[in-house]
Amino acid sequence: MPVQNSPSEIDQAALEILQQSYGYSEFRGHQQQIIRQVASGGDALVLMPTGGGKSLCFQIPALLREGCAVVVSPLIALMQDQVDALRQNGIRAACLNSSLSGSEAFAVERALADGQLDLLYVAPERLMMPRMLDLLARSTLALFAIDEAHCVSQWGHDFRPEYIQLSILHERFPDIPRIALTATADRRTQVEIIQRLALEEAEVFNSGFDRPNIRYRIAENQGNAREQLLRFIRNEHEGEAGIVYCLSRKRVDDTAAWLSDKGLAALPYHAGLSQAQRQQNQARFLREDGIIIVATIAFGMGIDKPDVRFVAHLNLPKSIEAYYQETGRAGRDGLPADAWMLYGLQDVITLKQMQENSEANEAYKRVERHKLDAMLGLCELHDCRRQALLAYFDAPGNGPCGNCDNCLTPPETWDATVAAQKALSCVYRTGQRFGVNYLVDVLLGKDDDRISQFGHQQLSTYGIGKELGNSEWRTLYRQLIAQGLLQVDVEGHGSVRLTEQARPVLKGETTLTLRKMAKVSKTRQSRRATFSSNVSNAPLWEALRQKRKELADEQGVPAYVIFHDATLMDMLEREPQTLEQFSRVSGVGQRKLDAYGDAFLDVIRAHQGSAPAGPTDSAADSIALLCQGLTPLEIAHRRDLTISTVYRHLANAIAEGELELDDVVELNDAALKEIRFAFEHSEDGRLKPVYEFLDGEYDYGVLACVKAAL
Ligand code: ADP
Ligand code: ZN
Repeated sequence: MPVQNSPSEIDQAALEILQQSYGYSEFRGHQQQIIRQVASGGDALVLMPTGGGKSLCFQIPALLREGCAVVVSPLIALMQDQVDALRQNGIRAACLNSSLSGSEAFAVERALADGQLDLLYVAPERLMMPRMLDLLARSTLALFAIDEAHCVSQWGHDFRPEYIQLSILHERFPDIPRIALTATADRRTQVEIIQRLALEEAEVFNSGFDRPNIRYRIAENQGNAREQLLRFIRNEHEGEAGIVYCLSRKRVDDTAAWLSDKGLAALPYHAGLSQAQRQQNQARFLREDGIIIVATIAFGMGIDKPDVRFVAHLNLPKSIEAYYQETGRAGRDGLPADAWMLYGLQDVITLKQMQENSEANEAYKRVERHKLDAMLGLCELHDCRRQALLAYFDAPGNGPCGNCDNCLTPPETWDATVAAQKALSCVYRTGQRFGVNYLVDVLLGKDDDRISQFGHQQLSTYGIGKELGNSEWRTLYRQLIAQGLLQVDVEGHGSVRLTEQARPVLKGETTLTLRKMAKVSKTRQSRRATFSSNVSNAPLWEALRQKRKELADEQGVPAYVIFHDATLMDMLEREPQTLEQFSRVSGVGQRKLDAYGDAFLDVIRAHQGSAPAGPTDSAADSIALLCQGLTPLEIAHRRDLTISTVYRHLANAIAEGELELDDVVELNDAALKEIRFAFEHSEDGRLKPVYEFLDGEYDYGVLACVKAAL
């Protein structure tokens, strides 16, 4: 498409692409302004939270402008999926990275030079190669998009040295617009991005950090974390994809095994597994529906699965930054998702000790200490968690969010002054040498050898705490540590000492109000399920997912590349009956309408008892026409179906023994042998590898029929 002139012409053309290619009815947030800016040749810096819709901001200008858009991304593992997703929408996309063979890379370069590409994804190190830059100089370029732009920052944890060199783009291609995008940039990082990428002229679009679809929940570990986790998953996320984070490899292995034992599809992921095993588990998580990955924090970078419905933490992250990044992997598709965390006394003690014992210098430790304290503060908070999170990132929102545990079920608080005085003075009287378990035993007046050995029955605090139970005292101690009134020893024995801040409480100069931790089960009553278990028509939902999986497997792409959950939800809502109605489902563009419309309409009709034509009827019609002598292509025309749908009907009939293979396809012996050979030597019988093995010589439909006859 040629460059549009006036802003309103650009807007109009952009909207057409949004509807035609992507199947969405309107733009979100700043998308339209950003597209206008870049399509008309300007630079942009886009700060948009995950799931906000950054991709369209460069993909649509890529289609509006002449030439190919070059997208720089460090996430090589994701490129193929992104390319697949674009192709599903009929957009000409490709990628260049180290995973390609020489000849594959050459073919992509040819396509670029020949003007056959709308979008090209490139790894930064590849882009900087002189040969690549020369190739670009000889090609017509629409724009440069620099994704994950925070990678230029040396202060962040994702720093990529190759990103620094990207300023070359501006020098070598001064007339090509550039758009830099990120979901995680504080002020300092923003300034750095602008400087290092020479984006001084860029318009900045800042949509903040908030992830409104994520529900933040932090509950107390009641000593049976796994059971609590299982209940959470069963009650709210049965059959859905999620990530469970644990601190240690051993805990990962144990938890994954235990969940599997309970019948859930859970897989472990940590650095101690073999490379092959890790890759396999990650691939299953990405491609299959409803896999739970149990992982150390090593898992996640480069995970762009849109339909992760929950992120659960069985351990406390060491900072709010880490917590926000890890929980941010939930709900990238914008649908409801849960960030669910358990935490307890032991977490606090372990993290404090790890920190104090680290080899780092004092200045660094001080920063780390502040970060952990902020995280603990978030856990013990009485009011809106989202407000606190956003305030921490210097991006305050507007009042309580209504979508966190504290907003939904305001926690009860209590005046803990007297109890805290008892707890603190027990620390003092026992000589500041003991851990919480021992202190609680003293408060409860336990008859215990160690206590008598130390003569602690004589203490004034012995047995003065019988009004509270064991776990309540532990909670109180945790809160006193979290609030900095007590300090955990450095040697690692878990003993606690008073800090300066304990003094006013002990002296009765201040009062102390603490939250009673919400029990997990209690928070729960507010909402059962994110969406899949409260959908209006569960059997149809499952059938739509099944169909999606089938189609995805056929092509060897992740399920969401066919349709996102949001699109299936909309189908469920609308229950379209015709292709025309189907085209109005959100996320159904022209290409997907052609490719999948019939298949999903069949599923929907099959689930309507009184529907005029079930899928079997539809298949029966195809079979009847075949018996009358029509070819599959003629049947498709006659019935206004896609050819792949017709082949699917016929392949099913072959598999059922209703038709013979040679009723449907004409293949000579050599061809048949060749295809059979390919299936027999393919690992899992999927169509795509076979199709590729045979150099695309036979249509997918033909292959499906041969497979059905095997
Ligand atoms: P980001 O890169 O910012 O994390 P994506 O570009 O992956 O976000 O978009 C998140 C999800 O929102 C995707 O499923 C995308 O298809 C969808 N989306 C983006 N823009 C729109 C829109 N205007 N209308 C409906 N859905 C949209
Ligand atoms: Zn809230």
